[in-house]
Amino acid sequence: MDKIIYFDYCALIIIIVLFISVFSRKMTHGKVNKAFIATLLTTLLTIILDIIAISLDNSNGEYITAKYVFHGLYLLIHNMSVPVYILYLIALTDTWHKIRTNIYIKYLLPLPIVVVAILLVINVFNLKTFYLDANLHYTRGPWFPLVYISALIYVVFGAYYVWQYKKTFRRSRFWALMSIFLAIAFATVMQMLFPRYPIEMFATSLGLLFIAMMIQRPEENIDVITDLHNIHAYSTDIKRGLTNQKQITIILINLSNYASLRDIAGYDAGHDLLRSVAKRLAELNKASKAHADLYYLDKGRFRVVIDHLHHDKVDSLANAINHSLESGIVVKNLNLNLMPYVCVAEFPGIIENYDALMYFGERLSLDYDYTGEVLYANEIFKKERFDLMNKLDDIIENALINRKFQVYYQPIFSVKENRFNSAEALLRLIDDKFGFISPELFIPAAEQSGAIHRIGTYVLEEVCDFIASDDFKKLNLDYIEVNLSVAQCMHKDLPSQVMNVLRKYKLSPDKINLEITETIASCAQNTMAENLDILTKEGVSFSLDDYGTGYSNIQRVASLPLKIVKLDRTFVNCENNPRMSIVLENTIHMLKDMEMEIVAEGIETEQLMKRFADMNCEYIQGYYYSKPIPRDEFVKYILENQPA
Ligand code: C2E
Ligand code: MG
Ligand code: MG
Repeated sequence: MDKIIYFDYCALIIIIVLFISVFSRKMTHGKVNKAFIATLLTTLLTIILDIIAISLDNSNGEYITAKYVFHGLYLLIHNMSVPVYILYLIALTDTWHKIRTNIYIKYLLPLPIVVVAILLVINVFNLKTFYLDANLHYTRGPWFPLVYISALIYVVFGAYYVWQYKKTFRRSRFWALMSIFLAIAFATVMQMLFPRYPIEMFATSLGLLFIAMMIQRPEENIDVITDLHNIHAYSTDIKRGLTNQKQITIILINLSNYASLRDIAGYDAGHDLLRSVAKRLAELNKASKAHADLYYLDKGRFRVVIDHLHHDKVDSLANAINHSLESGIVVKNLNLNLMPYVCVAEFPGIIENYDALMYFGERLSLDYDYTGEVLYANEIFKKERFDLMNKLDDIIENALINRKFQVYYQPIFSVKENRFNSAEALLRLIDDKFGFISPELFIPAAEQSGAIHRIGTYVLEEVCDFIASDDFKKLNLDYIEVNLSVAQCMHKDLPSQVMNVLRKYKLSPDKINLEITETIASCAQNTMAENLDILTKEGVSFSLDDYGTGYSNIQRVASLPLKIVKLDRTFVNCENNPRMSIVLENTIHMLKDMEMEIVAEGIETEQLMKRFADMNCEYIQGYYYSKPIPRDEFVKYILENQPA
């Protein structure tokens, strides 16, 4: 009875389509793609050999030699397809380094296929594995079960391998990888029951189709602009490497001025720039033989990931990259000068986990000065700071619960009245482990986590409690300035929150003055403007803090109901710059004309104090008088220093 050949034809079509898709989608680079192509190739060969062998069996002719040759080749190549698929699994799980160091797997894994090869060679002499019967039909010999056992060993090992790394795959991917084994098992049983229907290759090709659909998806992992791996691939690869205890070296490359170059030259040129950088990285990688994987994350950030095996090539590659990028790139006839931060990081090393790595990579061009030299994470990564940033949310939460925040006061001196007339409330956080934590760190963190609203209420309560106290009455102060953050200003409950606290302590609203920063004032936010209006009507006054640091939107500033402007510290220190002095004098003039009162902040010397007093600034604040100090100390200070 003839065997049905059509299943093989179908399998052939599927595999050919898969080949076309692999090449047309340019999925030919990288270990995983190469291993997948090898799997497709062995399957294709097996199918072709199967078709030839079946055709020979079905034909009327004798073709004895051809039958032996093609059946033998078929068995050999067919038996190789699962081991090749296992290589694909190893590439996919990125576990070469484990196989390499595990001598059992390294030497035992090839054994079954070697045995099959030997069986097939010996078969030429003893015909114990397969032979042609009296009718010249292909028949299995007494040693044939050994071939099955070899296949079984690989199937079991492969399935176990997928199972072992189950956690590193999403569930759909896990089942796609398993589908091949299920298909082979199902087909083998069916083929035993119905020998006329050789469906095994068809089932295998369906499994591969499934994998191509679920796993070999470049659109998920490839960056469309640079053709390098994207941020998603980076994150999966780095995390998988960590789970597999793989040691790697990463060259982090941040083009720190990418955004401004793109703004100047346009988006198309920006993309051309990225492509040129990607091309240079690929060329340097090839020349260095570091076999690195290249990634483009975003915002001009590239990553070069090198296996520990090629560790010795890292330094020269990093220097070559730095040198090449620093020399600039010509895009659309524009010579673009880059400011590349190139940094070498062992991973895991001083940077221990994925979050720290991402944090370091994000902050690289912000936290460190540009030197033009290759940087080393070992030398520059501030683990303490990362630990702090990482735990900041918990520290803030804990400080709120245990009332660890403290409000300090910094006196403000009125030149006109020759007395201290107010003070600024400044928040302090002293942690048991990390010590003093600057508000410039914890305020932004609290804004992100939302804790800022509770902190805001806390500060306001503390301040009002102080104002309502008997101590305060003795000080002859008019009001206390309280800082507001962006998030607080944008919250629609701000007015009621402030008024509730004032009411609770039975205070008149003119006892407090709220400070908003220039950034808040210049961002067009309706809620913010409404909040200011409501509170002003209630009698609360406002100051504009840090004036002169940001991009002052004068129009916006002029339209807000502000009573006081606080000149920023940096603005104040411009003595040695004659032009800035002119700006300063005219700014003060302009603000006076707008009928604003002025506080000069950050005044540290008598000379500066006099200078600003001469320039008609009403108020002076700074270390010249006092640093911010705790409530009790502040009371003592004012009592002792308030002119009679
Ligand atoms: P800011 O409101 O501009 O506060 C003035 C900062 O300048 C304070 O830093 C103060 O200690 C410092 N300073 C004052 N005089 C001098 C001086 O003569 N020389 C020098 N070098 N520095 C001086 P601090 O306390 O570290 O606060 C930093 C920023 O954190 C504040 O800037 C403010 O924006 C924010 N902040 C502080 N407390 C709070 C708060 O309770 N709520 C909110 N939302 N923000 C706060
Ligand atoms: Mg302030
Ligand atoms: Mg300020």
